Parts: sequence; C-alpha cells; structure tokens
Amino acid sequence: MYVDLTLKFISSCQNGLNVSWDKIADIVVIGFGAAGATAAITAHDLGSEVVILEKTDTGGGNTAASGGAFLCPSEPDNAADYILALSSGSMDEDIVKTFVHEASKNVEWIVKLGAKIEPRGGASYPSVKGASSMRAYRLQGVGPGGDRLWSFLKGKVEERGIKVYFKTAATELIQDVTREVIGVEARNPDGETRIEAKRAVILSCGGFEYDDNMKKEFLHGPSFFSMGSPANTGDGIRMAQKAGADLWHMGAVAAPLGHKFPEFDAAFPTRLAHQNIGDPLSFAFIYVDRHGQRFMNELGVDNHLLWLPFAYFDLERLEYTRIPAYIIFDEATRLRGPIVRNQNGYNRNLYTWSEDNSDEIARGWIASGATIDELAQRIGVSQRLLSTSIEAYNNGCKQRLDPFGRPTKTLQPIDSPPYYAIKIHSCLLNTQGGPKRNSKAQVMDPYGKPIGKLYSAGELGSLWGFLYQETGNLGECLAFGRIAGMNAATEHIRENDFAF
Ligand SMILES: Cc1cc2nc3c(=O)[nH]c(=O)nc-3n(C[C@H](O)[C@H](O)[C@H](O)COP(=O)(O)OP(=O)(O)OC[C@H]3O[C@@H](n4cnc5c(N)ncnc54)[C@H](O)[C@@H]3O)c2cc1C
Repeated sequence: MYVDLTLKFISSCQNGLNVSWDKIADIVVIGFGAAGATAAITAHDLGSEVVILEKTDTGGGNTAASGGAFLCPSEPDNAADYILALSSGSMDEDIVKTFVHEASKNVEWIVKLGAKIEPRGGASYPSVKGASSMRAYRLQGVGPGGDRLWSFLKGKVEERGIKVYFKTAATELIQDVTREVIGVEARNPDGETRIEAKRAVILSCGGFEYDDNMKKEFLHGPSFFSMGSPANTGDGIRMAQKAGADLWHMGAVAAPLGHKFPEFDAAFPTRLAHQNIGDPLSFAFIYVDRHGQRFMNELGVDNHLLWLPFAYFDLERLEYTRIPAYIIFDEATRLRGPIVRNQNGYNRNLYTWSEDNSDEIARGWIASGATIDELAQRIGVSQRLLSTSIEAYNNGCKQRLDPFGRPTKTLQPIDSPPYYAIKIHSCLLNTQGGPKRNSKAQVMDPYGKPIGKLYSAGELGSLWGFLYQETGNLGECLAFGRIAGMNAATEHIRENDFAF
C-alpha cells in the first residue's frame, strides 16, 4: 500500500499535478443512482462544478429497479427511537439522529424540485416504539415506482447541465501523501482517464450484490442472488478500502425471495410472499425445504428479512436445508396471474412473465405434477415429506388453525391439481455494507478519523446495520446524498501549487 501510494505521488510530481489530469471538476461523484444524483444536484446548486462517473450507459442502478418508495419520518425524535431499536446496537446514535432529521426533509426537498408525491407505506415493525413516525412516499405517475423516481432525478441532473460520463467505471481513488483524496482514476471505452477533484470525491456506486467473493466472505449462507443492477459489484468498497477506509454493516442486507434462472443475471421477485398480504395473488401456497418439509409461517416475516429463515443451517444434516427451497402451489393459483412482480426489479424491462405462468412451465422454470407424489419426484424431494406437509397445511385450512400460525384469513387449501413447484432463493434488494461514514457523510478510517475530501452516500456503506425499515435505503440516498453534496461543496478548493 505504502509503495503504491508513493509511486503514484512520484509520477504526479514528475508530470506536475495539473498536467497529469484528463479532466478537472470541483466534485467528482462516482455512481449515478439516487444517492449520486441527489449529491450532484445539491453540490451543483451550492455553486460547485460537479461531474458524475457512471459505469453503465444509462445509470439508474438499483434505484431504477426499485419500488421507488422513500422514507420521510414525521417526527424525527420518535423516528430516532424506532430506528435505534431496530439497529440492536449496530448504528451510532449520532448518525441516526442526523439521518432522521435530514430525512424528515425528503418530501420538502423533492417537492421543491417539482415532484408530485403520494403516500406509500409505513413502519415495517409497527409494535416498536416510535413506529407511527415512519412515513413513506413515492412519486405519482404510471409505471414502476423506481422508474418514476429515477427519471425524475435524472431529469434534474440533465436540467442543470451536470456532466455525466457514462461507460466510465471508477477504478481507484487518487490520494496525496497526506491521504487526502485529490481525484479519481477511471476506465472508459478509450482507456484510462484521470479526473481531478478540487473539492472532494463522493462515492455513491452502490453495493456488492454481484461480487461473489464479498458475498461469500460477508453474507450468511451461500447463494444470495440479486434483484437489482448487475453493475453493482462492490467497486466502491474496494476503492475505499485501498484508500484506507474502515468498513461497516458488511453482513447486513435486505433480501426477500425470488426466482433465479441462468438465462438472466438478476432474479425475479416472487409474488407469493409476505409483502403481498395487502395485495395477494393467492394465499394457497407453502414453502418447503430441499427435502420437501414445510418449515415456517410464510406470511409471518417481514419481506426484507426473509433471507434469515432461509439461511438456516441444519446441524444434524450439516447442510443448508432451505437452499434451495420451493414454493408449492396449485392450478387455481397458477390461473390467477403471474407469480412474480412484473413491475419490480432489474428484469422488468427484459422479460414479461406470462399471465397464466404457462410460458415459464414450458421453459422448465416451474415444475408440475398431476399428483403431489409426481411433483415430488419431478423436483427430487421426499414424496412422504411433501405430501405430509401439504396434508397438514390443508387440514389446518379446514380446522382454521395452521401448525405454523398463519393468519386464519390466509388459510386457503392447495387442492386443485395439477400441482406446481418453483425454486426460491434469498435475493438481495441491496447490501448495506461498505465504507463507514460519519454524520457528515465523510468516509472514516479504522482509527475513527475522516479520510480527507472523501464522502459517501446511499447503499454503499449504508447506515442500516441490522433490522431494516422498508423505504429506508432510498430515504437514506436522498438524505445522505444531500449531506454529502452540501459538505463536499463547502470543502476548500485545493490550489494547484500546494506543497508536499
Ligand atoms: C427490486 C428492488 C426494489 C427496491 N425497492 C426499494 C424501495 O421501494 N425503497 C427503498 O428505499 N429501497 C428499495 N430498494 C433498495 C434501493 O433501490 C437501493 O438501496 C438504492 O436504490 C441504492 O441507491 P444508490 O444510489 O446508493 O445506488 P444505485 O442506485 O445502485 O446506483 C449505483 C450506481 O453506481 C454505478 N457504479 C457501480 N460501480 C461503479 C464504478 N466503479 N464507477 C462508476 N459507477 C459505478 C452503478 O452502475 C449504478 O448506476 C429496492 C431494490 C431493489 C433491487
């Protein structure tokens, strides 16, 4: 590390600092999603010259693939109590307080920019103190919520003439000998390029949903797939690490259930899950493990935390018995509509799931059997366990008492053949981990000191460390995007002739 920095310093000195740069800006924002766009708009409006580097040719990242709902707490003090209770010690009070105060201005900020909003959801954990302060919103309009939010923010960046360099992946942060960040090295279709940042660099390039090594190292249990953008490969984490950053929340994720097929990088969000209680396709389904055994109340765990029961490791069998697991359903459910949420996730523009799920049966994504035994045979689970699981569930439906405690109104029998099974996996909406930030959005080193002129926002090193409040990530993108943009814009402008 020391040698590497020294070499970079020498080469800068040999060429003179000014001439070694291909481009110059006050602030370089890395990653063009909600956090990057918000930071860029804020810094620009405070008078800074901002450029954005974006790895893909469109930007949008997980933001565009999302539901587009963002948190805007109504009473910051109560909201802080609630979020601290969810954090179970994984978040500092200071940063939570800063977050809720800034996030409570999210609606005001976006409406001032010209957005029209509508309410969208509340507390994920209504019984926790302070839950009533959890208010969420999304932009009005048609089409997927993430698209609405993304096209709005992107439009505001374009209106301001903020330069976005697409197909430009940041590869390294350039630091001076004091470790202050002075620019960014990036790769574009023409080769390597260096951009000087006279005030600061803001990292907002998302999570590590598509980095297999980091997932193996930090997440609990194998095979987390993702529903978001394949461009989120943890680049910002590696760049920040190399610059000397501390990491936090690396094991924290929001991960509901989805269906993953080799033809697509991203997974499809399932509709047969907790999140659709208010808008069910059908309740006639259960989850079974890889042996055919039912194991949980399918509607009892908050959507974002569903990965946890699926990461169960069986200490007798010495295996993850719920990876993969299956959703079992029947003909009546199949005919009700697509079993995935077509409006959500990265695949929403790449594939339209058929209305009656027949295309996906033909593709072999959904297995079918005229009887439960035949279905068990098709998917390779125990006939005994699968039929016992379904019988017990159907008996519970008759008696209005589910062995796993499902609410009575959701007890619909699985009894109209043929029967169907589809694999389910935990699929990331996002990873929360990354460089640790303080309440000023500065990236911190492992000794608790900020790395000079380096800021972060959004999912990259998110403040969410344990239980997640839904809509909290986009709420954080907007709040910490503004904090990062504001503080970066007030950094002093580095002179060209500073002395080492
Ligand atoms: C299906 C789905 C639904 C969701 N719904 C919600 C919701 O309703 N509410 C909510 O709060 N959260 C939701 N989330 C989570 C939320 O979308 C993300 O946490 C949030 O969008 C992250 O925004 P971001 O700006 O930090 O990163 P992103 O939006 O992911 O943007 C990061 C950008 O950085 C770019 N990038 C990556 N590496 C580099 C590099 N080396 N150089 C330059 N650019 C780079 C990427 O291409 C990308 O464009 C959802 C996620 C998914 C997948």
